[in-house]
Amino acid sequence: MFPRLFSPLAIGSVTLRNRIVSSGHDTVMAEHGQITDRLIAYHEARARGGAGLIVVQVAGIHETARYTSHVLMATDDSCVPGYRALAEAVAPHGTLLFGQLFHPGREVMDLDDGTLTVAVAPSAVPTERFRVMPRPLRLAEIREIIDGYGQAAARLRRAGLDGVEIVASHGYLPSQFLNPAANLRTDAYGGSAENRLRFLREAFESVRRHCGPDFPVGLRISLDERDPSGLPADIAFAASVSLAGEGLADYLSVTTGTSASLAGSDHIAPDMSNASGYLAPLAGKLRAAVRVPVLVAGRINQPQEAEHIIADGQADACVMTRAMICDPEMPALAAAGQTDDIRACIGCNQACIGHFHLGFPISCIQHPETGRERLYGIRRRADRPKNVMIVGGGPAGLKAAAVAAERGHDVTLYEAAGRVGGQVLVAERLPGREEFGGAITNLSREVARAGVAIRLRTTVDLPAVQAQSPDLVVVATGARPYRPPLEIMDSPWIADAWDVIRRPESAPPGKIVVADFRGDWVGLGTARLLAAAGHEVILAVRGYAAGESLQQYVRDRLLAAISRQRITVLPLVRPFGADDDTVYLQHVLTDEPVLVAGVAGLVLACGSSPANELLDTLDSAGVPALGIGDCLAPRTVEEAVLEGLVAASGI
Ligand code: SF4
Repeated sequence: MFPRLFSPLAIGSVTLRNRIVSSGHDTVMAEHGQITDRLIAYHEARARGGAGLIVVQVAGIHETARYTSHVLMATDDSCVPGYRALAEAVAPHGTLLFGQLFHPGREVMDLDDGTLTVAVAPSAVPTERFRVMPRPLRLAEIREIIDGYGQAAARLRRAGLDGVEIVASHGYLPSQFLNPAANLRTDAYGGSAENRLRFLREAFESVRRHCGPDFPVGLRISLDERDPSGLPADIAFAASVSLAGEGLADYLSVTTGTSASLAGSDHIAPDMSNASGYLAPLAGKLRAAVRVPVLVAGRINQPQEAEHIIADGQADACVMTRAMICDPEMPALAAAGQTDDIRACIGCNQACIGHFHLGFPISCIQHPETGRERLYGIRRRADRPKNVMIVGGGPAGLKAAAVAAERGHDVTLYEAAGRVGGQVLVAERLPGREEFGGAITNLSREVARAGVAIRLRTTVDLPAVQAQSPDLVVVATGARPYRPPLEIMDSPWIADAWDVIRRPESAPPGKIVVADFRGDWVGLGTARLLAAAGHEVILAVRGYAAGESLQQYVRDRLLAAISRQRITVLPLVRPFGADDDTVYLQHVLTDEPVLVAGVAGLVLACGSSPANELLDTLDSAGVPALGIGDCLAPRTVEEAVLEGLVAASGI
């Protein structure tokens, strides 16, 4: 079905069995700089699922490369046993394993383990994002770091890895040397193009010296950092062509963006507002200029897209990392022609890179088994099949139904509405969030494959439960919008955000205040929807800024959108009351009134309260029941799906 995607690819002295690549991504599963059993289980699941090549996350090659408290380190031999265990877990599945050689330079986050942040760079030039002032590297340190690339590569080779790549992407140290805006040196490592390339060239030579000519070494590079102060695209292109042409780089792995700026970092894991495969044309230009394989990243979610990119000659292999975070079985399903069964990544960024930014192990909102392979990676059959009623077809109920049925239980799911999906059906109506509905498409497919019976337009009460006499009722009845107490005078137009999202035309013409308690997509999205319909919109947020609880890249894109839409944000306010043409707010720090006059209405995006009446009724009647999802407390989609998994795994 996908002849090019599933054809072998030679990289230097090794051959990939197919052209599906999991690129290096920080899983936050390393501890004390070392590979853990959790990380091994994570990668083994992707190898078992059919990946052609797994590139393990970045490993620091020098003490100054410790950019987070959870980075892997390859600075001494203590890393070898962990890498060896990982290689031994992956190899039996036919997947090749490469490592990433890494130095962040000035891209250092504040370490959260009490260690003082040390940032070194070619020159003392800070970045917009981390705002750390780096110390210029001394010549002796540059030599030490270059040697570190070779020494680290030799350790990974000894551990049994099949190759390595030097990370020059995303504004990290090699990129800083190449970039005339970051490299102001006047010695042999700065100034001319040749001098600025010297660091990277010597890093490759160091790896060759320590590992020999037959050990594959690749280059990971951002061909366009999308930052006015970042590495210019023509310099990145020329450096890639030189290193490949000189026989130093065995392959080129193309990405985009930089960690150094807000707008550039949004491309490290491009969210759903970016088109699928949007980097392929850029990679295609490089591929036409070199004779080594070119790999390309950039929201390639599905095998059909990957096949198309390779067939078009834009790349030799496709980086599909989040596609396999979301569905580790994706390559095997594609190879078997079961494309409808692939759980497609929706580019929400919430549990993968979102967890990384929060400092805990990555997962997937649709597939919480990711990162928890040792607990939930293998579905265990139930000791005794039970008759299970699931009430509510939102994300929690759907996941619970699928998992319970996969474990052998007899499961029926009841949904009061005409469609399953719950609040996701609201979320997908917002501008730029259309793809979010894919989560329900995927969960519905899981439910269907597992053999769950579904009863739509069916309300469940105590007599209905007693008539079925199930072994267990799983209550996932969701939530309803929360309305804070308000002082209301006259008859102002006040509506809940969920209703406005469903029917934006219901808002009266004129200026609308959107009161946002949670800083999530509901308030921001409602404001955008109303502005797009021609309203002047004031977004009154209780936090310091709009979208505070969203993942950074998603939030940045939304903040850029509301800026373009001229939406006014009022921070640190709560709604207090309203009359016909004024919304009364209060400053949350001073309690002083903040009045917005001349308004046509107020929209409340103040979260939700649990719809838990059925659960209470069943409890009182002594019927075995379990609550999950929003009916217990407000839950994100991620939390709801995880709760469905955990609950059904215990039945
Ligand atoms: Fe994709 Fe969202 Fe899952 Fe990340 S959390 S892998 S973006 S679906």
